[in-house]
Parts: sequence; structure tokens; C-alpha cells
Amino acid sequence: MNKTMIVAIDGPAGAGKSTVAKTLARKLGFLHIDTGAMYRAVTLAALRRKTDLRDDGELEKIARESKIELKPGEPEGRVFLNGEDVSREIRTPEVTQASAHIANSVPVRKILVARQQQMGREDSAPYGGAVLEGRDIGTDVFPGAQYKFYLDASVEMRAKRRLKDLEKVGVVTTLEKVVEDVKARDERDIRRPVGGLRKTPESIVMDHSHLSVEESAEELYQFIRQHPC
Ligand code: C5P
Repeated sequence: MNKTMIVAIDGPAGAGKSTVAKTLARKLGFLHIDTGAMYRAVTLAALRRKTDLRDDGELEKIARESKIELKPGEPEGRVFLNGEDVSREIRTPEVTQASAHIANSVPVRKILVARQQQMGREDSAPYGGAVLEGRDIGTDVFPGAQYKFYLDASVEMRAKRRLKDLEKVGVVTTLEKVVEDVKARDERDIRRPVGGLRKTPESIVMDHSHLSVEESAEELYQFIRQHPC
């Protein structure tokens, strides 16, 4: 194995990337980097300051000043914004909704992509590698990643998972509404001119609609073991 190996996992919202990436990173002994959490942390910082979400200059300043730390945790990794644990707050529907604006901001993307590259190169060194998950990992963040997975699942399946997550945090809604939301998020992710969700020619596309998270992570793990680089 190389000194620092990069495993990229891209795919649409709700395909189970976060938990699969976390489980895979644990199996490999690698660092896990949830890049979506970084966009969410900047979104939270912008909402708290009541920033105009179309003001790129202001968003850039906020992104630059935001110290974002990702730490391991159960059942999910912890996210710190300027030293404060914001793991729960970044998952609210309000942040989810507003994060689409932040993800469209080119200056914010530049700052976060550079940080992700640095984390992948430097912070992951003691672990031997990193599993990064997001939308643009295999295209923009680490186009040279040794493994590029594109994790997919049907809209129906992803909506069901999302509904469960929302119910857990007390949000009352319907499956129909969540299906519409999932479709709208897909549309935004695919159409985003910078950092949009795309497969690459090297992407290993997997549809894990009918697999559990453990099974899904095991598939990726076995693929890596069977295809050493
Ligand atoms: O994956 P998650 O839902 O946590 O992502 C939060 C927001 O950040 C979404 O709007 C998503 O499109 C965006 N994102 C992004 N690039 C990434 C990861 C997430 O634009 N690499």
C-alpha cells in the first residue's frame, strides 16, 4: 500500500456515503473526512451571522475564518466550528436547505477544497490514508485518488432513509414530500457548475439500494483488497 492512499466516495445525498465511508475508514485504519459536514459548518456560521447567502465576498470571509475540525465519534463523527461542537446543529433542515447556496459559492469551494486536500495529504499521513466522501472528491479534490467509488441508490430508498433520519430528530413530514426534496437536491447537485456531482471514467459505480451499510462498506473493502494499487 502507498504511504497515503486516498479513497474517494462520491454520490447523491442519502446514498449512505457517510456511514459507509466511516465504516470503510475504520476497516482500513484510515482517516475519515466528511466534506459535506464542512459545507454544513460554513453554512451554520453564515446563518448565525445572518449573512446574505448570495454575498460571495462575505461567504469567503466566513469560510476563511471558520476553523472546522472533524473528530471521530459514535454513532457519527463530531464536527467542531471554532472549537464548538456543532454536530447536531449542522444536520437541521434549515442548514440542509441553506447549504445548497454555500455549495454554489466558488470562493467557498476553493477554500474548502484546499483544506480537504491538505487534510488528505497531511492529517491522514499517520493513518496511511484517508477516505473522503462528498460530491467532487474524485473530480476536483483528489482527481488522482487511487480508488474512486460512486455510491448510488434509488430515489425511493434514499427518501426512505432520509425520512427515518428526520423522524429521529422530530421532523414531521411525508414520504412524498421527502421524495420531492431528494429529487430537488439531486438536480442541484448535478447542475452546480462548479463542484457538481459527476462520475469520472475511472469511477467504480455501485448501486447499494438493497445492501445494509455494513454490507456496502464490506463490498468497497473487498474491492480494495482485490485490486491493490
Ligand atoms: O452530503 P451533505 O448533505 O452533508 O452535504 C451538505 C451540502 O454540501 C450539500 O448541499 C452538498 O451538495 C454540498 N456538498 C458539496 N460538495 C461536497 C460535499 C457536499 O457541494 N464535496
